[in-house]
Amino acid sequence: MIQKIKDKKMEKIIPFISTCDKESTNLWLEHLQAHISEYQIVLFENLTQEQKLSSQVAIVANPNPEDIAQLKNLKWVQSLWAGVEKLLQELPQSSFKIVRMTDPQLAKTMAESVLTWSLYLHKNMPLYLKQQKQKVWKQHIETLPEEKNILVLGLGKLGLESVKKLKENDFSVSGWARSKKKIEGISTYYGSEGLQESLKKADIVVCLLPLTKETKNLLNKEKLDLLHNKASIINFARGAIVDYEYLLEKLGKKELSHAILDVFDTEPLPSSSLIWENEDITVLPHISAPTNMKTASKIASKNIYEYFEKGIIPISVDTKKGY
Ligand code: NAP
Repeated sequence: MIQKIKDKKMEKIIPFISTCDKESTNLWLEHLQAHISEYQIVLFENLTQEQKLSSQVAIVANPNPEDIAQLKNLKWVQSLWAGVEKLLQELPQSSFKIVRMTDPQLAKTMAESVLTWSLYLHKNMPLYLKQQKQKVWKQHIETLPEEKNILVLGLGKLGLESVKKLKENDFSVSGWARSKKKIEGISTYYGSEGLQESLKKADIVVCLLPLTKETKNLLNKEKLDLLHNKASIINFARGAIVDYEYLLEKLGKKELSHAILDVFDTEPLPSSSLIWENEDITVLPHISAPTNMKTASKIASKNIYEYFEKGIIPISVDTKKGY
């Protein structure tokens, strides 16, 4: 009897649509199948026409929009990434819901990265790196963490965990979001006036906003000019939120101290980009919070079981807000 129920479930197909390289796609497939053992996870290219038409849920990782369009009866897709701006842009009028990856492990990993690179700046590492290249032995006065104001833009899943981690490490922390927030020990701001006020006081600005119509080029000339000339920027969100051209200009004029950039408009960052050569910029290859295959598969699995067993579609992206 139990075997019969299991066999029935195995008839249920969950398409996996991925344009990741073959190795990552296969690894994802292994992890997903291990966690979603009662349903069959099938790569898009191996689906029959009938399976394409009967699929209600698909798991996606940088999917081809033309592939998704062939699944005409989809109710929702589970994205394996936290940022879904590309999906929203490529599938503007989709009839199905988009569920992004919200994984507490991802938030934890991001908070660790935010702390690591904030400490890197706080401990003057960019300066000591320059000194080493010039064989200069010079000590600089280190300020206390509480004297450093770190402003986190975006207080969602990743931002919230990050402000808490920074606070635990004694930094003076502020945060900015779209809506008003109350977080113990953190100065919070919202709205455009709040942004201006908070930028003026910031020593380090950490960007953890989603890329939307409103946040595109948010940190433009006008906003970057509000920062004092010893301030630094960490962008762990999306390249298009910050005007990198103007950032380079400001760094060149010593009107900003340093930038740690993990995300770019074009990735990989082209070898011709001036950003590579700038010693006031630390380039990271989009590694501040990689999705963990094990924990993310577990979350996708929970969402899929809840849908098939209880009819619950997880909280999906608000297409109007864009996140
Ligand atoms: P989230 O939970 O959706 O939170 C988004 C936050 O941004 C919310 O606090 C929201 O304000 C705020 N926000 C959105 N639009 C705003 C606006 N116009 N003005 C002011 N605040 C605004 O997102 P998340 O999970 O924290 O992820 C954030 C982003 O990180 C993702 O979208 C992705 O692009 C990026 N990411 C990067 C990596 C990496 O490895 N580099 C990894 C994962 C994610 P409210 O709270 O008021 O709604």
